[in-house]
Amino acid sequence: MIDVGKLAAVLGSGVCSALPGLHAWSGCDTVSALASQGKIKALKLVQANDLYLQAFTDLGSSWNVPTDVFNSIQAFTCQLYARNTKIVGANSLRYHMFCAKKGQIESGQLPPCEDSLMQHTLRANYQAAIWRRSLKNLPDVPAPSAGHGWELDDGGSLKIRWMAGLPAPDVVLNLISCTCRRTCRPSDCSCILNGLKCTVVCKLQGCSNMVQDDAIVAQDANDSDGDSDD
Ligand SMILES: [Zn+2]
Ligand SMILES: [Zn+2]
Repeated sequence: MIDVGKLAAVLGSGVCSALPGLHAWSGCDTVSALASQGKIKALKLVQANDLYLQAFTDLGSSWNVPTDVFNSIQAFTCQLYARNTKIVGANSLRYHMFCAKKGQIESGQLPPCEDSLMQHTLRANYQAAIWRRSLKNLPDVPAPSAGHGWELDDGGSLKIRWMAGLPAPDVVLNLISCTCRRTCRPSDCSCILNGLKCTVVCKLQGCSNMVQDDAIVAQDANDSDGDSDD
């Protein structure tokens, strides 16, 4: 059994006040975690930096995320992905890490873009706000789809709002292409992984992921063995 009283005394009241925000933000039952970012590193960062400690203490104190809180969390996110970086903007760090690796980096190794980090932070804030009101009788809780990182699908079910804007300008999305050689498979085709149809700029023409076009007839009978060329 964990002695909560003892644990709280060791952590100190400052860190304890930040825990609901930090736990929600770093992944809980209702809020996803950032790929390969665990809780220990996040906790250590918060314990070492008063600005981050304050941001997670503030997370969930209201139903909105104030700009200064988000900016601190954005800087904190940069430290998670690149310790001691001077960069404090998620988009800027994504760009720098992508360039430093000359593009040879998986999207999961990059920090989320600012847009999706904001949606993630809104969800964490919403969850932390509910926890912080756990002793309140009948708390006034807004709908999660009212700008808190979730939205309703066509059937009225709640779904995660991964981002508020487009993942890239339309013109760029149209230019994303894959380099699959024999088959385009959900496991490794960058077009399928990005939820896109293959286009004429892809290496393989006539794959099953292409928009059906009378001019292009898939002839991949030889590719049913599912082996990998990569
Ligand atoms: Zn492909
Ligand atoms: Zn493709």
